[in-house]
Amino acid sequence: MSALTRAVAELARRQGAEIRHGAEVAAIEADSRVRAVRLASGERVPAEAVIFAGDLAALGGGLLGAEAARAVKAPPRSRRSLSAVTWCLRGTAGGWPLAYHNVLFSRDYAAEFTALMDRGALPADPTVYVCAPDRQADPAAVGPERLFVLVNAPPRGGEGWLTAREIEACERATWRVIERCGLSMAPAEPPRVTTPDDFAARFPGSGGGLYGTATRGLLDALGRPTATTKLPGLYVAGGSVHPGAGVPMATLSGRYAAATACAGLSSTGWSLRAATAGGTSTRSATTAATD
Ligand SMILES: Cc1cc2nc3c(=O)[nH]c(=O)nc-3n(C[C@H](O)[C@H](O)[C@H](O)COP(=O)(O)OP(=O)(O)OC[C@H]3O[C@@H](n4cnc5c(N)ncnc54)[C@H](O)[C@@H]3O)c2cc1C
Repeated sequence: MSALTRAVAELARRQGAEIRHGAEVAAIEADSRVRAVRLASGERVPAEAVIFAGDLAALGGGLLGAEAARAVKAPPRSRRSLSAVTWCLRGTAGGWPLAYHNVLFSRDYAAEFTALMDRGALPADPTVYVCAPDRQADPAAVGPERLFVLVNAPPRGGEGWLTAREIEACERATWRVIERCGLSMAPAEPPRVTTPDDFAARFPGSGGGLYGTATRGLLDALGRPTATTKLPGLYVAGGSVHPGAGVPMATLSGRYAAATACAGLSSTGWSLRAATAGGTSTRSATTAATD
């Protein structure tokens, strides 16, 4: 995944893009069309086109200003996807040989989802996902290795309900399931814990939901917003937009947004040469990443 990020960033730089990290966008400025983005630092960056790649709920919920909020329909809170509590650690696993992906099921899967979806609570007996990425290179690895542990959590990050006690109880419940399934995990150092509150801070507007807007029912997936918005010059991409969440899908949606923005710029007669070059580059990036 990081190779994909590096490939796209490298390609963008070769085309003259300047990538700025740690620059929070406070507002998207517009009148009849997009004019600029304003950073939290107060700096104003003029723009003919803006592609917003955060959660659509942030845009529709007004976190990027009133003009941008009118450009899209905010998905309701009931459509947030699940959040998670995760532990990143380096440690020694024992009991049975881990695969790259491992799922240790709750004894009562229905009760788990009742807690998550109906009560908005952490389950007492969670289903646990354990990822052992070093096993890809060496399936029989022994000794300390990187381990990632995830349990589902309700998307209620940033709402003040999650206390340190609840997280500790969740950790105990998670390690109980791991032990019950005959696995042992001895961390070499304290695991790094990430909670729905942390995810909500990182992905504004999402409540910590990790997988874009939830799809429930056969036709939901067809109803996702496309790259264009009601505000000329503002485009959307990412997990809450067509074709959906997950790194491959979000990458495709970036490609659609880039192509749509380029078409929009060339149809207004602005920046025609840049628009053509950008469209070609975006396709190359995706092909390179797939290869
Ligand atoms: C722990 C975890 C496990 C996951 N597991 C899976 C999985 O197994 N399978 C799967 O398909 N998907 C999984 N996902 C989901 C997948 O990572 C996402 O669907 C995908 O990353 C979405 O990409 P994106 O580009 O839309 O958004 P993001 O990766 O969320 O990127 C958006 C970026 O925009 C930034 N941003 C938002 N607002 C602003 C602002 N105002 N100013 C500046 N920056 C801003 C955010 O900080 C963020 O860095 C997982 C996600 C997590 C966190």
